[in-house]
Amino acid sequence: MTDAAVSAASTRRALSVYVHFPWCLAKCPYCDFFSLAAQRDAIPHGAYADAMLRELERRAADVGPHELASVFFGGGTPSLWEPKELGRVLAAISGAFGGKDVEVTAECNPSSFDERRAEELLRVGVNRVSLGVQGLERERLAFLGRLHDADGALGALRTALGAGFRRVSADLIFGVAGESPDVARREALTIAELGPTHVSAYALTIEPGTRFGALAKANKLPLLEEDLVARSFEAVATALEGAGFEHYEISNFARGGHYAEHNLAIWRGGTYLGLGTGAWGTVRRAGGLLRYRNAPAPERYLSATATAPLWEISELVSDAEHVDAATALSERLMLGLRLAEGVDLARAAAETGAPGWTRERERAAERLVRSGRLVRDGARLRIPESAWLFADAVVRELM
Ligand code: SF4
Repeated sequence: MTDAAVSAASTRRALSVYVHFPWCLAKCPYCDFFSLAAQRDAIPHGAYADAMLRELERRAADVGPHELASVFFGGGTPSLWEPKELGRVLAAISGAFGGKDVEVTAECNPSSFDERRAEELLRVGVNRVSLGVQGLERERLAFLGRLHDADGALGALRTALGAGFRRVSADLIFGVAGESPDVARREALTIAELGPTHVSAYALTIEPGTRFGALAKANKLPLLEEDLVARSFEAVATALEGAGFEHYEISNFARGGHYAEHNLAIWRGGTYLGLGTGAWGTVRRAGGLLRYRNAPAPERYLSATATAPLWEISELVSDAEHVDAATALSERLMLGLRLAEGVDLARAAAETGAPGWTRERERAAERLVRSGRLVRDGARLRIPESAWLFADAVVRELM
């Protein structure tokens, strides 16, 4: 990424907006996002949008004027939401904050995405679709609890590409029991050949509190050996890079400079307003950073958005904390070092108010540079791609 691209995306008063839509047709056994299984006609489409408009009006007045940098409808499965309701929320967000040519992403699942849905989403202003392909083998998709098969996934990807979205991203999960690195490579290539502008490829992780987490704890979940997961990561990366994608973040690949602008802003330390039940937000307030989470409880959300305190624990908010300077700097390192461009430590220190080059960090950086796991270029630190598999350990050492 060029320096111009780096500075263009880091305007001070920019604000991203994340909208959480919590419902899915079924709960996937590996998923630890806040999501609830529901049939489409049981979802309170209009009431949820109404509640969100109430929340938005109050939060926008509170944070004051900002330039809208990006909007991301995540979940859950936002493609289940009636597009006209999603559109009402999007129009209100655009009206509350100025912003030109803003990236607007909607996460979509193949089981709730077709030509009609694509047209409706385009019409209300969505210009980027992130499609949960996840895999291209029937048994593995079934193991992951996905409701679509390979044809459904590829068909949805073709539909998104043909519909006229400016950007189309596909999500892929690798490292699943029984999947060889070569299968992971071939799946990545099949997806790449269809022509998406972006691919997110994640190793399957087993999270506590999920069905897979419980099965793993009871030793009842088949898992792929760690070295095969690592080889799959390398195989997927090599395949996508060979197909013209830039590996710009550990799990993310873009073609033609079509980075995920919303995520990129957050990896670079940008602030974002979170709207909806279960949504997290981080905003600048009273000279510092404030992080909050809306209660992951739709019923409470529907009734509390008009009156409950916005930034304190309340019927609406289940978590709220000031992010101190040291934590803010640690987070900048943790997120920034996932990027190929790395992180400008001097700048991150100045923006967070925490000391950048402590004696311990100097020593840790020297050790890491000597071992080839870190590159130091002036104030900028980055992990070379050859060491991305060890990124967590590198970050821990620098903390
Ligand atoms: S569709 Fe996505 S958000 Fe919904 S349960 Fe599955 S992984 Fe989680």
